[in-house]
Amino acid sequence: MMKGLYIHIPFCESICHYCDFVKRKPKDDYMIDEYLDALEKETLSYRSHFSTIDTIYIGGGTPSMLSLAQLKRLFEMLKEIKPSEYTIEVNPESYHADKGKLFKTYGINRVSLGVQTFNETLLLSLNRKHTKPQIFHAIDHLRSLGIDNISLDLIYAIPGQTLAMLEEDLNIIKSLDIPHVSCYSLILEEKTYFYHLFLKGLFKTMDEETEALMYERVMERLKSFGYEHYEISNYAKDQQYSKHNLLYWTLGEYIGIGAGAHGFIDNHRTYNHRIISTYLHTPQERIELQTRELNIQDELIFGLRKMSGVHIKELEEKYQFDLFERYPKLYEMMELGLVCEEEGQLKLTLKGIFLGNQVFSIFV
Ligand code: SF4
Repeated sequence: MMKGLYIHIPFCESICHYCDFVKRKPKDDYMIDEYLDALEKETLSYRSHFSTIDTIYIGGGTPSMLSLAQLKRLFEMLKEIKPSEYTIEVNPESYHADKGKLFKTYGINRVSLGVQTFNETLLLSLNRKHTKPQIFHAIDHLRSLGIDNISLDLIYAIPGQTLAMLEEDLNIIKSLDIPHVSCYSLILEEKTYFYHLFLKGLFKTMDEETEALMYERVMERLKSFGYEHYEISNYAKDQQYSKHNLLYWTLGEYIGIGAGAHGFIDNHRTYNHRIISTYLHTPQERIELQTRELNIQDELIFGLRKMSGVHIKELEEKYQFDLFERYPKLYEMMELGLVCEEEGQLKLTLKGIFLGNQVFSIFV
């Protein structure tokens, strides 16, 4: 069975006010080099899987902040692998022509660009460091190299953002004709600068009504621009889905390498240490057997994230059970109009997309 490989680069040049990912500002270059040493060791420990890896995803953090030499070292570690999809996350301010050329040399064929918004005032409020021209430059240059498979990350429900500002972002996306968009609402997470402000009464999240309106607007607009809404937060043109992320949602196997990374192989979930200094000498924190119960739960929770939903018969045959007998609350969810059954698929309705967590909670 083909697998994915996720590699985490936990370094950023500056820390965004909303971010709770595993990341830090590196003290110096030595710190990154030391991390790459550990990464190399961990990567090699999975060498026997290399021939079965079909997707690589280098995420972060900010992988593109590594120097050319560090990036080269990283790509060298992986060069034996011949994936059909090879993605790297890039922040526009750390993109340079030489880095793009290096991506091309090593077969990277997909870039996930951390845009968040094109509005420079909002970018500043998030502590993002790029400018609008830097976004356009990165896209143009990647395209000139033949790396057309570009995904943009977009955030909505940013405090201070109006519907008109969101519309502007969406219109720019339309004009750029980008094949893939991931769109998330800003979530107030603990241990972030925004949370620190919130505790002091200096930060107010957007009201739920406006947030819902924005989500609806994103869906409507992107659909009208020719995107298929294929996962709660993801949109693709011409079926240019994220193959790697689809593995997560379909319980496919993937290896997770790097601080805080997790994987799913041989029916086990692996969890790496989040603290970089611990990761350096002991990458893995724990490994857990995925029981049949957990598999059913994950099939439903991840599966319903896809707009195509879950094929009821296939799931019942795979796990030898009756879905509605096991989860009688599904009838209630149907009555509430949160889920529906269409051509044998169990799916979230539009209302269910907004109240996804309420639906997912019945499977836990
Ligand atoms: S959002 Fe991305 S760039 Fe910003 S701090 Fe988090 S990982 Fe780094």
